[in-house]
Amino acid sequence: MASKRSISRYLGRAMMLRCPVCGISRIFLPVLQTRSLRDWFTPLDGCPRCGYPYEREPGYFLASVWLINYGVGSLLGVSIYLFLEAFYHLDLLVLFATVLTPIALFNFFFARHSKAIFIAVDHLCDPHEKDGGDDGGNVPNPTLPTSDSGGPAKPLGLPVRKEPKPSHKSTVLH
Ligand SMILES: [Zn+2]
Repeated sequence: MASKRSISRYLGRAMMLRCPVCGISRIFLPVLQTRSLRDWFTPLDGCPRCGYPYEREPGYFLASVWLINYGVGSLLGVSIYLFLEAFYHLDLLVLFATVLTPIALFNFFFARHSKAIFIAVDHLCDPHEKDGGDDGGNVPNPTLPTSDSGGPAKPLGLPVRKEPKPSHKSTVLH
């Protein structure tokens, strides 16, 4: 069971868009280096310091988008709607615009944080521990210090999907 200290530490790192393990490296490109929407929404492959892979498998971030980003955005929209209905009597089109515009902006700017929070919660619940087996994931830069140990980074032992070896028997089609 994760302690309250680790929860707050990991979530704090997520809100800073930093690696959950070392707390130093960025999960996304810096804003000034962002050149496209893809740069904005796509996390880097992994942490260059500790080797923590940000996307464990294809489709990994679906839950972060649907549960965290859209979920919090929906709560925000409902809150704005209830507030406006209680205190103002707006036309329907104005009401739609007043409710939907902040949701769209929120979803855009919170998308990175929702992925970072998902990475942090996933690491909290299912941490990658070195098991002495395969050394999957990214290769960390051993010259960069980590915040946890202060020493050289160690690669994480992540399970690696092993592809079946191609058979040497060839099938000849006639
Ligand atoms: Zn890291």
